[in-house]
Amino acid sequence: MARRAIVAANWKMNGDLALVDTMVSGLLSIELQENVNVVICPSSPYLSAFAVKSKVDELNAAISIGAQNVSEHKSGAFTGEISTQMLQELSVEFVIIGHSERRSYYKETSTQIAHKVSAALNAGLTPILCIGESEAERATEQTKTVLSSQLQPVIDEVGIEKFIDVVIAYEPVWAIGTGKTASSEMAQETHQFIRHFLAQANEIVAVKVPLLYGGSVNASNCEELFAQADIDGGLIGGASLQVEQFKIICSAAKGK
Ligand code: PEP
Repeated sequence: MARRAIVAANWKMNGDLALVDTMVSGLLSIELQENVNVVICPSSPYLSAFAVKSKVDELNAAISIGAQNVSEHKSGAFTGEISTQMLQELSVEFVIIGHSERRSYYKETSTQIAHKVSAALNAGLTPILCIGESEAERATEQTKTVLSSQLQPVIDEVGIEKFIDVVIAYEPVWAIGTGKTASSEMAQETHQFIRHFLAQANEIVAVKVPLLYGGSVNASNCEELFAQADIDGGLIGGASLQVEQFKIICSAAKGK
């Protein structure tokens, strides 16, 4: 198998200690197919609780903890920020970088996002790099230009060889939290474009990078989406807050 599949839960600013408990308990009975990783990304105040409960309950080793953001700086006067080293101390292995909510509400630029990816990689964390076009950009046929402009600064910053340790999440902005999902054909076509874009820089690396789809994935549409040749799992928002639904989504993923 060339590529593992990943299902990542983005709780955003939702959930509480009770959900940490319910999720870890629920995941104890999860059935995963071969070569699948599950990553739970709670809000940062709950990372520690999730790490402790996962350890005490001896959660399946295929289930990891992820953060929703990280600073590009190592340490210093950056009030409210969290460093890669702090995440490592909490057993965090993955970090979501460049989510569309951070790009739009917190004005994160592709250059800053590239610095964050670099910081994460240097610390041994796996970045889940989010890219995606807006509804207007899709309507005016700018999707490929937008995705290229989000990917290229990261390739320039870290080098394509390092993408072997990067996960990419394609999330059309118009599908996030809206209940509108890209059709499986549209998602596959876009994922194929992303893989070809990476392959222009390095074909061997491109084949190995897990490409996740995100945008209103749920228990009903996950199977068809994950069956597509270039869709290697998903980044799940709303549906990741409901344990039983999330487990169905995780069970639908398989390595390719
Ligand atoms: C997300 O937040 O990354 C996301 C895909 O959300 P949702 O699944 O709710 O659309």
